[in-house]
Amino acid sequence: MESETKTENKSKREKENNTDIKSLTLPELQEWVVSEDEKPYRAKQLYDWMHVKLARGYDEMGNIPKILKEKCRKNFDYITLNAVKVQESQIDGTKKFLFELPDGNLVESVWMSYKHGNSVCISSQVGCRMGCSFCASALNGWERNLSPSEMLEQIYAITLLTGERVSNIVVMGTGEPLDNYDNLRRFLELVTNENGLHISQRNITVSTCGIVPVMRRLAEEKLQITLALSLHATTDEKRRKLMPIARKYSLDELMEACAYYFEQTGRRITFEYSLIKGVNDTDEDARELISLADGLNCHINLIPVNPIKERDFKQPERVAAESFKNKLEKNGINVTIRREMGRDIDGACGQLRRSHIAGQP
Ligand code: SAH
Repeated sequence: MESETKTENKSKREKENNTDIKSLTLPELQEWVVSEDEKPYRAKQLYDWMHVKLARGYDEMGNIPKILKEKCRKNFDYITLNAVKVQESQIDGTKKFLFELPDGNLVESVWMSYKHGNSVCISSQVGCRMGCSFCASALNGWERNLSPSEMLEQIYAITLLTGERVSNIVVMGTGEPLDNYDNLRRFLELVTNENGLHISQRNITVSTCGIVPVMRRLAEEKLQITLALSLHATTDEKRRKLMPIARKYSLDELMEACAYYFEQTGRRITFEYSLIKGVNDTDEDARELISLADGLNCHINLIPVNPIKERDFKQPERVAAESFKNKLEKNGINVTIRREMGRDIDGACGQLRRSHIAGQP
């Protein structure tokens, strides 16, 4: 089966200007099916094979006539991802997957099992151009955007490999999802569609470093997804040192965009705050964070920074992180310290891909 999928991908790669069938919405597929003089219900059957039965190729589609399969092959790419590496955490069972895309690029995704269900963290780009100083994904720069089907396939391939249903999705892997907005939007449409995987919008989180105009655009779509903002610092000056995007948009503009998101969607914003020893974990940082969060309907997720060997960032001691959290809590702020999942398996964004490319075990 795997070699069949590989040849299918390879032969398709050699063709130009192919459309990617798994990135089509059901109405688009219906339009094409009808234009080929096929019965309209065939579109739903195809959609079901791709997005519910998670078929690896047209050959598996038992109730689709041979002639229609041929038309599909001629007109469309059928994107599947191959796992080139799977690592399982001995600590918490978290699994990290390194997938090969049809063009040979690599992306990573993480599967986490919680009491309330299974969650998958997907990548949205190959590499990233945001250049945050603590993040491994930024080290090799940006390569390209992922298509909607390549985002979906990370979930589909993991579902097939683990044999378990995914109930939550976090777009927090490599890449800046709001820097690939159109594909992200289409991915969200496909993954929540009732004829597909039908994941509830409320079970999806999209994380951004803070591209203000796109946050506003997303707000206007009035989706019920959670928007997570990577804050990491409480003054413009500090934030600019960690995140180049902060040179473009000020904290004031960001906070206004967060308030706007809540106003438009009614959804509480999550602030992600990576605690870095001596950089953003002082009493003053806590005080400033309290005043930033004041009046905003938000939840703060403290993430002890995951040290990457290329940078000299350290985690605060556990007690220091707890005390930082307590200060926020005492001021009525909703705050958690994120459980570190998969620490023993290159858990931080972009680390697995990077060590694989560098030829390390
Ligand atoms: N580009 C998006 C999503 C990807 S990163 C964003 O910036 O939000 C997902 C989260 O992990 C972000 O909050 C990011 O800042 C954080 N992150 C990246 N590298 C990290 C590290 N080494 N330690 C802790 N958090 C990290």
